[in-house]
Amino acid sequence: MKERQLSVHEAIIWGTGVLKEIGIQTSRLDAELLLSHVLKCERAHLIVINKEKLTHDDLVIYRRLIEDRRRGIPVAYITGFKEFMGIDFIVNQSVLIPRPETEILVEALIQRLKGVKSPKILDIGTGSGCIGISLAYFITDSSVYATDISSDALAVAKTNARRLGVEDRVFFYQGDVYDALPDEYKGYFDVIVSNPPYIPSVDIKNLSNEVKSEPALALDGGKDGLRFYRKIIAGAFEYLKKGGLLAFEVGYDQAQKVKSMMMSYSVDIIKDLAGIERVVIGRRIS
Ligand code: GLN
Repeated sequence: MKERQLSVHEAIIWGTGVLKEIGIQTSRLDAELLLSHVLKCERAHLIVINKEKLTHDDLVIYRRLIEDRRRGIPVAYITGFKEFMGIDFIVNQSVLIPRPETEILVEALIQRLKGVKSPKILDIGTGSGCIGISLAYFITDSSVYATDISSDALAVAKTNARRLGVEDRVFFYQGDVYDALPDEYKGYFDVIVSNPPYIPSVDIKNLSNEVKSEPALALDGGKDGLRFYRKIIAGAFEYLKKGGLLAFEVGYDQAQKVKSMMMSYSVDIIKDLAGIERVVIGRRIS
């Protein structure tokens, strides 16, 4: 029997229904993102081609992607891209998918670095590179040094730096926290920034399947989730200039705890759109 051809509109309705059935809250958005990926067009363009029929091949691919999504794979891993700060970042399963909350951290730093000439920025646990690379992208006289323990993550970050044309100002080091940084960078940085793994180890098993498809290395913050903040704060004294900024994204109940570890800093806390204390920024005062 000849398969009935679906229009773009019908394909979106079908995909949305499949995803909604298993409780995906962003079902319509996800269906549209997947279809625009298959059709290689902007999501906004789908409305323009609403009535056009999908080719057989496109329909087969779209069905497969909807099925992947139904099995709990995040859209960003299926399409290979995630938008962050208005820029498209390449992602795969070796990196955390950039989150909108993290944009608050980047925006706060862009604000505070206005007037600082050629800032030197250290991004610890860079993952996809979304923090360091977007800072390099928007602060055009900055130099960014990005570390990660995972060579697979660094491969992704390097590709992103190249694609976005900032590879001559972003330098990568493989190692845990400060381990791979040469000694010459002691006292060198105007900013140390990190969105480290911050989920307490015991809570990892309770995460949604979707989050569990992200690398454990990017999520697990040790017994109380604060392991990396301790390490980063302990070393920051050596690497950060006096008057420099130490900035973190934190988990939902961690801001005050992290603040209390930052004794020699004057600290601001910024909430996210859900009202959760999400960003901790300290200026080194002694
Ligand atoms: N810095 C990256 C991000 O903010 C990776 C963070 C991580 O893997 N914990 O997305």
